[in-house]
Amino acid sequence: IKKIGVLTSGGDSPGMNAAIRSVVRTCAFHNIECVGIYRGYQGMIEGDFKEMGPRSVNNIVNKGGTILKSARSKEFMTVEGRKKAHQNLVNAGVDALVVIGGDGSFTGAEIFNNEFGYPVMGIPGTIDNDIFGTSHTLGYDTALNTVVDCIDKIRDTASSHNRLFFVEVMGRDAGHIALNAGIGAGAEEILIPEEDLGLDRLLESLRKSKASGKSSSIVVIAEGDKIGKNVFELKDYVDENMPEYDVRVSVLGHMQRGGSPSCFDRVLASRLGVKAVESLLEGKSNFMVGLLNDKVALTPLEQAIKGHTEIDRELLRVSDIMTT
Ligand code: ATP
Repeated sequence: IKKIGVLTSGGDSPGMNAAIRSVVRTCAFHNIECVGIYRGYQGMIEGDFKEMGPRSVNNIVNKGGTILKSARSKEFMTVEGRKKAHQNLVNAGVDALVVIGGDGSFTGAEIFNNEFGYPVMGIPGTIDNDIFGTSHTLGYDTALNTVVDCIDKIRDTASSHNRLFFVEVMGRDAGHIALNAGIGAGAEEILIPEEDLGLDRLLESLRKSKASGKSSSIVVIAEGDKIGKNVFELKDYVDENMPEYDVRVSVLGHMQRGGSPSCFDRVLASRLGVKAVESLLEGKSNFMVGLLNDKVALTPLEQAIKGHTEIDRELLRVSDIMTT
C-alpha cells in the first residue's frame, strides 16, 4: 500500500477532524501518501480528492464537524456509482480506504470491499454510541458533556420556578446519551428506548418525587424512547394528570452534534486513526477499529454493522438509586 484515502460519511460528530489528522499523520509517519476525499462517497464518485500532508491538518484537532465535509450518497447505493468511485480511486493510485462514519457508511464500505476486493477500514464516528465493537464512538463523550452542561443550565431555571422540565436528547434508537447524561446531570427520571417505563410508572415516579419534597425535576427523554408519546404530547399528558406541576419542554437538538471535541474524543480519534492505517499496512481489511476494555481492537465490519449495543444494566440501577 502506497496511498491511503480518507473520508467522512453520514452524520458528522466531534472528533472526526482529529481522526482525519491522525490518519494523515500516520501515513506521513510511515512514508506513504494520503488523499482526502471530500463529501464522503459522493466525492469518491465525483473524484473530489485532495492530496494531504501533515501540514494540511494543522489546527483541526480542536474543531468540531469535518473539514472533509460529509454527505449521504444515493448514487453509492448503486453498482454504477460504486464502479465510478472505484475507477476514480484506481486512477488516483489510492490503494486503500479509511471510512469515518456510522453503520450506514460501514455497510457501504463492506459492499465496496466485497465487490472490488478493495481494502477498507472503518472508524466509528457518531454521537449516538450505537455501534457494536467499541465502548465509545467518536463524538459520544463530547455530546455527553454538552448535554450535561445544558441540563445544568436548565436546572437553574427549573429550581428557581419549581418547574418540571422534559429534556429531549439525541441517540436515535439507543439510550446511551440519555442514560449517562441523565445520571451525570442528576435527572429524576430517564426514558430510554431499551426500557419502557410506561406512562403510569412515570406519573407514579413524579408523584413520589413531589411527595419526597423535591420542588423541581428534570426528566431526560431519549428521542427514540418507547413510551408512545413525543415529548410535547408527554407534557400535555402530565399537565392533564398532574396539574400541580408546571411542565416545560426543551429539545436540545443539533447543538449536541457540534462543538470542540473533548480531550477523550481527541485521544480516541488519534488512537483509532493510527490503528486504522497501521492495520491496512499490515494487510488487514474489512474491519472497524474501536475501543474494547480500554484497548484499541479490531472488529469485522460485518459484526460492527449487525451487532447491537446493550445498555449497561448497572447504570439503570445506579440511576434508580440516585433518584431516591
Ligand atoms: P449516521 O450514524 O450519522 O446516520 P451513517 O454512516 O449510518 O451515519 P448513513 O446515511 O446511513 O449514515 O450512510 C452514509 C452513506 O453510506 C449513505 O449515504 C450511502 O452513500 C452509504 N451507504 C449506506 N448504506 C449503504 C448500502 N446498503 N450500500 C451502499 N452504500 C450505502
